[in-house]
Amino acid sequence: MVCDYIENYELKNHTTFKIGGLAQRAFFPTTVEDLCELLETLKNPIVLGCCSNVLISSKGVEQDVILTSKLNNFEFDNNIVTAQCGVKVPMLSKAAEEKGLSGFEFMIGFPGSVGGAVYMNASAHSQALSDTFKACRVFDMDSKKVLDLNKDELKFGYRSSVLQEKNYVLLDAKFELRPLPKEEITAVMQRNLEFRKDKQPSLVMPNVGSIFRNPPNDSAGRLLEKAGVKGLKEGGAQVWLGHANFIVNVENATSKDVSLLINKMYNMVKEKYTIELVPEVKYIGLKSEEEEKLWDTMLNKK
Ligand SMILES: Cc1cc2nc3c(=O)[nH]c(=O)nc-3n(C[C@H](O)[C@H](O)[C@H](O)COP(=O)(O)OP(=O)(O)OC[C@H]3O[C@@H](n4cnc5c(N)ncnc54)[C@H](O)[C@@H]3O)c2cc1C
Repeated sequence: MVCDYIENYELKNHTTFKIGGLAQRAFFPTTVEDLCELLETLKNPIVLGCCSNVLISSKGVEQDVILTSKLNNFEFDNNIVTAQCGVKVPMLSKAAEEKGLSGFEFMIGFPGSVGGAVYMNASAHSQALSDTFKACRVFDMDSKKVLDLNKDELKFGYRSSVLQEKNYVLLDAKFELRPLPKEEITAVMQRNLEFRKDKQPSLVMPNVGSIFRNPPNDSAGRLLEKAGVKGLKEGGAQVWLGHANFIVNVENATSKDVSLLINKMYNMVKEKYTIELVPEVKYIGLKSEEEEKLWDTMLNKK
């Protein structure tokens, strides 16, 4: 095997939700070459970054898991930055600020990796990852080849990219930033952090950010609040009292507690508004029959 792995690795500690069972094998490649070799060798592995947008099954994950946390190199060439998939986006945001380069101010406030942020086309405060994206290298799991893709080929949309359609793993990505006086960048980043203080729970209360995507021309948080979900509880999971589109793990919540709560929120909005919200958080791992049904309904796989 190209790189060491840990057997029966407790995924819970790696997630911002502090939920998740064991991965039978967890790999931590340290070079892009090792990552490619793993992707060539392993059968159908799951690649994860900071696990800040996933609900990992408390029953664990059967497949091999590759965690990209050690692929954390990035380099600037004037206003172009190339970053490996495991780079934490707040770190990239701070490095760009230091260099007086604008475009990553929005990434200061959330705990994702470059891989997860490209997969989701992460966005906030009127900036999106796709605004600065130039090109990337992906490993195509079907052809087992490395492909160079340009921005058009990424097919970015609201919280979506081609990585969600195709069997691609992001290796590294290039972004083009815009020179701006450092004080202006710092001021925007501080405003962004300030905004988040009241609008989202800090990670002291384990969470995964927004649970549902915004429907067209509306806000999931507004609909959920009007439907009366704030404070609802299921086992150790609770809808945050500060904002209705967040769930916090208040007391050793399981993936089933969260699945039941998400489904309750989904049904309450559907009943009041006949709008079917789409979950933004992605379920990873083994599902009980009950969880399978709950998620199939919400993902419209009836
Ligand atoms: C407090 C908080 C606030 C947040 N605020 C925002 C926000 O304002 N805006 C926003 O957009 N998101 C937000 N998020 C959600 C999340 O942080 C982002 O979506 C982030 O970009 C996900 O990155 P990740 O590394 O954690 O992905 P993970 O959770 O590890 O993975 C998410 C998906 O990406 C895939 N993936 C990960 N790496 C790769 C790779 N190298 N190649 C292919 N696929 C890959 C995974 O398989 C999975 O399907 C927030 C989360 C939290 C906890």
